[in-house]
Amino acid sequence: MTVAIASPTAGQPRSVTILGATGSVGGSTARVIKETPERFRVKALTAWSRVDELARLAVELDAERAVIGRNDLLPRLQSLLEGTRIEARGGERAIIKAAEMDADFVMASIVGASGLEPTLAAIRRGALIGLANKECLVCAGPLMLSEVARNGATLLPVDSEHNAMFQAIAGSCRTSVERLTLTASGGPFRCWSRERMSAASREDALAHPKWSMGTKISIDSATMMNKALELIEAHYLFGIEERSIEVVVHPQSIIHSLVTFTDGSTLAQLSPPDMRVPIAHALGWPSRLEVGTTRLDLAAIGSLDFEAPDTGRFPALRLAREALNAGGTAPILFNAANEVAVAAFLERRIGFLDIVSIVETALERVDSRALTSLEEVLAYDRSARRHAQESVTRRARLAV
Ligand code: NDP
Ligand code: MG
Repeated sequence: MTVAIASPTAGQPRSVTILGATGSVGGSTARVIKETPERFRVKALTAWSRVDELARLAVELDAERAVIGRNDLLPRLQSLLEGTRIEARGGERAIIKAAEMDADFVMASIVGASGLEPTLAAIRRGALIGLANKECLVCAGPLMLSEVARNGATLLPVDSEHNAMFQAIAGSCRTSVERLTLTASGGPFRCWSRERMSAASREDALAHPKWSMGTKISIDSATMMNKALELIEAHYLFGIEERSIEVVVHPQSIIHSLVTFTDGSTLAQLSPPDMRVPIAHALGWPSRLEVGTTRLDLAAIGSLDFEAPDTGRFPALRLAREALNAGGTAPILFNAANEVAVAAFLERRIGFLDIVSIVETALERVDSRALTSLEEVLAYDRSARRHAQESVTRRARLAV
């Protein structure tokens, strides 16, 4: 298992930085901290554009520093924080600097590959990292894992499925894991035909039946790209080969994932679909916090359903497997094309089915080079985005 085990400082409050504090995961992290204030001190909070929300959170959590990525919003942040002791900073570099501050725990909850540099900065100083930002692991898995090992950092999975598997594996050695089973809600289009999906609107795709999340991951759930990214994430986090990771659709989202061991035992982790559960697990690890989330009532739920994913209607899972098996630059192309295509769909420039189709086209450019430095990964990611933008433009023209 690649997820490291280390002992954090016992007895004193844990200092925490939240990267992406104004997002869905960032907000849930703030709620858990507010519920258990004696356990935490907040070092830094970062955001990209929601400056008022950032200032409000910084005051509520008594943060040392608040950082807004968009430099043009720094004057607004400074005026909102006037009269407090909170330092206001602005710009992308300032987000990386925030990750370098000496917080014990960094919640990596920026969306997309933009989270890579700050997350890597926290890894490089050996921090405990709560990893929600799956895209950075997908596009730079080997680099991140080698930096984790080199710097004695600890990755604690926050994505609910990976957190579930981490909890199930605890205490067992990697070689006794035979199979990982990722559960998937199936998203809003679980029962839709391809034809109906071809006309799906932004609003249809954002209407997730079980989870309330940021816009990008909501679209990823509708295409099942989210599960595809999670398959790659599981491969890197747990060091398990692609063919030993399966996906099952479980519409109630009560079982968050399962691990099958070589002796035939399968362990699962269950909770209502509320991100505060995996967030609290990571924030408190290795101890448990007291958090007032709704407890499971199995009798009220009655039954749990499972079905095989339909890769005909949702080809994303097949593409993730192909990307993992192709290796080289495939995971970077996969993630970059998806980010570009999701943004174009949200801007109503392309149709819903174009998203996965653009990713499939992007994978044709794969080359076998292993990119081992941050600079190489970032440069390749930029060129992958340029090509994906060209695909978007071609499709947008066809749609007119
Ligand atoms: P949101 O869109 O809700 O939040 C994203 C956060 O990142 C915001 O704080 C945003 O700032 C900030 N941000 C956006 N762009 C940049 C940038 N270029 N540089 C720095 N910061 C930026 O996303 P979620 O909270 O939904 O998701 C965050 C990550 O966690 C994703 O990788 C997602 O896949 C993963 N995840 C999310 C889950 C969920 O339930 N939401 C569940 C499991 C994993 P601002 O809003 O101020 O512009
Ligand atoms: Mg998930």
